[in-house]
Amino acid sequence: MGRYSAWEIIKQGLTGNKGWERAWRDPEPKARYDAIVVGGGGHGLATAYYLAKEHGIRNVAVLEKGWLGGGNAGRNTTIVRSNYMIPGNTEFYEFSLKIWENLSQDLNYNVMMSQRGQIVLFHSPAGRDAAARRLNIMRLNGIDGELLDREQVMKMVPHLDYSENARFHILGAAYQPRAGTARHDAVNWGFARAADQLGVDIIQNCEVTGFLHDATGAAIGVQTTRGEIRAGKIGVAVAGHSNRVAQMAGVGRLPIEAHALQAFVSEAVKPHLDYVIAFGGIGHFYISQSDKGGMVYGGDLDMYNNYAQRGMLPVVHDVHECVMQVMPSLGRARLLRSWGGIMDMSMDGSPIIDKSPVEGLYLNCGWCYGGFKATPASGFCFAHLIAKDEPHPAGAGLRLDRFRHGAMIDEKGAGATAWHH
Ligand SMILES: Cc1cc2nc3c(=O)[nH]c(=O)nc-3n(C[C@H](O)[C@H](O)[C@H](O)COP(=O)(O)OP(=O)(O)OC[C@H]3O[C@@H](n4cnc5c(N)ncnc54)[C@H](O)[C@@H]3O)c2cc1C
Repeated sequence: MGRYSAWEIIKQGLTGNKGWERAWRDPEPKARYDAIVVGGGGHGLATAYYLAKEHGIRNVAVLEKGWLGGGNAGRNTTIVRSNYMIPGNTEFYEFSLKIWENLSQDLNYNVMMSQRGQIVLFHSPAGRDAAARRLNIMRLNGIDGELLDREQVMKMVPHLDYSENARFHILGAAYQPRAGTARHDAVNWGFARAADQLGVDIIQNCEVTGFLHDATGAAIGVQTTRGEIRAGKIGVAVAGHSNRVAQMAGVGRLPIEAHALQAFVSEAVKPHLDYVIAFGGIGHFYISQSDKGGMVYGGDLDMYNNYAQRGMLPVVHDVHECVMQVMPSLGRARLLRSWGGIMDMSMDGSPIIDKSPVEGLYLNCGWCYGGFKATPASGFCFAHLIAKDEPHPAGAGLRLDRFRHGAMIDEKGAGATAWHH
């Protein structure tokens, strides 16, 4: 399969676009692989890609029960940022943002990374203090960030509600210029294509329904809807289904709950918003404009445990109240689409990339709302762990046993309450 290039586009354009090949193969599963990755979301695909590219482990299969991008990888609001302040998260998410900055070139696939900047509004003096503290910690760690006062925000985004009687009075914002958005489908397809080119088998419609163990209890393969597949090592990256798969594998219950999170897209409007806008603390809301013109936005979780890829009406109301309170200019835009994804909410709001208690089985989970931005670093660090049996330095803090030892990475300071993260 050839490389994508400007020359190839011209050549195909002149010959009726008939020569494009499949982006990745559709192979039958083999009886045995050196490594299997369960879950064909962004994280699973990135893991397979980096196993092949960084570690030369190419006899790898990604097993996906549905289609690539049918999970959260194709359902998120596409925000990419690294404004974290707790050790464990700080170095990991900045490592990820650095990979994002060159990802299109590396994959030879345009992931439409747009570093348009993220503006996180605050509405109270306490909110300003919290933003300043976060920005100071970020800057001490070499991460970009600026504190904006009200006038600066007004200049950058003039059409927010700055009126005196605004419900959420805007006092200023924390700004990360290098943050932005990327195209979620392109990220999945780019990793899939690049992994396939290195020899990885991407097997869709292949649900893992059980695990094979040897006499010592080590995991040596999986049962699937397409037969048994054996493997030297098995990585699990199934996001909202982590607990179900972990229990199937004999790991037991993980410190994770499944909750639905909804996303909304308006009809296309003319260029209206040059930044990602967000706020938390008073409500929870984030919005950006897609390249097609739709306003893409979301808010809080549905606050009950759920495995449905759709959401409930009170959250729809709540999110649209946030739209009206912050950007009343969108009041007459029509809602075009909405959907839900299943979040793997960990008890401290931070992820897990670690060996499991079952020999040969590795865990990648607990991504909560924020796993899209983590996709490249998650794959990079998980591949490192699977290949070398030791953590990559950027992901070394994301251990499973922190919940046993109490060494939480509680970015939000919300305690062990999954739905507050
Ligand atoms: C509405 C919404 C908005 C979001 N917004 C953002 C955002 O703006 N920024 C951000 O950083 N993050 C965001 N996220 C979070 C982010 O999308 C996820 O954390 C991340 O995508 C999870 O990793 P993944 O891509 O591998 O998951 P998924 O794409 O869910 O991949 C897991 C895959 O495993 C498969 N699977 C499950 N069980 C099995 C099985 N038994 N056998 C085989 N396959 C199986 C599933 O079908 C699925 O395809 C958002 C999520 C949602 C839903």
